[in-house]
Amino acid sequence: MSKVNINESITWKEITPGGNICASGNSEEFKTGDWRVDKPVLIEEKCKHCLLCVPVCPDSSIPVKDGKRLEFDYDHCKGCGICAKVCPFDAIEMVKDK
Ligand code: SF4
Ligand code: SF4
Repeated sequence: MSKVNINESITWKEITPGGNICASGNSEEFKTGDWRVDKPVLIEEKCKHCLLCVPVCPDSSIPVKDGKRLEFDYDHCKGCGICAKVCPFDAIEMVKDK
């Protein structure tokens, strides 16, 4: 089975069975950040773009472009706070999500 696009007309027979990972990139189709309790906030003036926060994110929710980190991908960030713990410059603050 390969990755399929989920839309209003798709039937249950066509979607990925629950819990099965059939191909890389499956989770991109789902917004898994909806149940987050806390969320990371970037304090841009403190960020040195050292990128230490990027590889530790278990959800690949810190995009990088041209050697600089971008805003969090809140559609997929689970709010675990690991990025805030590893940032040596206190450039990430964890706050209650609304
Ligand atoms: S670890 Fe901190 S300073 Fe380094 S890129 Fe991430 S937010 Fe910026
Ligand atoms: S809080 Fe966790 S999931 Fe969200 S960006 Fe930081 S490390 Fe990734």
